[in-house]
Amino acid sequence: MIAENLTAVENKISAACQRAGRRRENVTLIAVSKTKPEVMIEEAYGVGQRDFGENKVQELIRKRDLLPKDIRWHLIGHLQTNKVRTAIDKTCLIHSVDSLHLAEIISKEAVKKGCTVSVLVEVNVAGEDTKFGVTPEETIGLVESMAALPNLKIEGLMTIAPFVNNPEENRPVFSKLKQLSVDIAMKNINNVSMRVLSMGMTNDYEVAIEEGSTMVRVGTGVFGERDYTARQ
Ligand SMILES: *Cc1c(COP(=O)(O)O)cnc(C)c1O
Repeated sequence: MIAENLTAVENKISAACQRAGRRRENVTLIAVSKTKPEVMIEEAYGVGQRDFGENKVQELIRKRDLLPKDIRWHLIGHLQTNKVRTAIDKTCLIHSVDSLHLAEIISKEAVKKGCTVSVLVEVNVAGEDTKFGVTPEETIGLVESMAALPNLKIEGLMTIAPFVNNPEENRPVFSKLKQLSVDIAMKNINNVSMRVLSMGMTNDYEVAIEEGSTMVRVGTGVFGERDYTARQ
């Protein structure tokens, strides 16, 4: 089932790239495996999937220890400051930096560990109360302050778009994040690249790709519905 799902997602990614005149290799599919067992991740791995996303540090570390070492683990969920130390050298990219305070702690721990941490700034484009992330207006200022921190690489922006019935409704959200990343890139801030735009989930990744996404985070579309009632 997972192999078939991946093929279906792959076909939709390719079609969206074609519609937008973009190259397929400029979009990375992150298979969001939160709540899903290792055996399902192995199945995806078996057909070539290498980028996986988790939203909890503990779960990411448990799976990482059990699974092949060439998997790239993306931390996509809110990061608590007391988890920073364990997380930073086990993820290829932290998608969810939403305050200078968190960025400072990541930087400080990275200096102690002697590693460099790649991060995205999470932007709450639609201004939903329930979501983490800074406002679009705050983003440039935060990026500029973060740029001065050692052992931190700012690679781009991330957003979680609202849950909508028609994905077209999120097109303005995605185009706004894209525009914001272009505005920031034009400032040529030292230590800041805007090469990553992490946007698009199962319901809306095709629209996100048409609007410039370079990383789509697809959970349900790859692994099926999540069951939060089952204890793992
Ligand atoms: C769970 C999650 C996803 C995947 O959601 P689906 O709708 O299942 O594709 C993507 N991004 C983040 C930040 C998530 O927490």
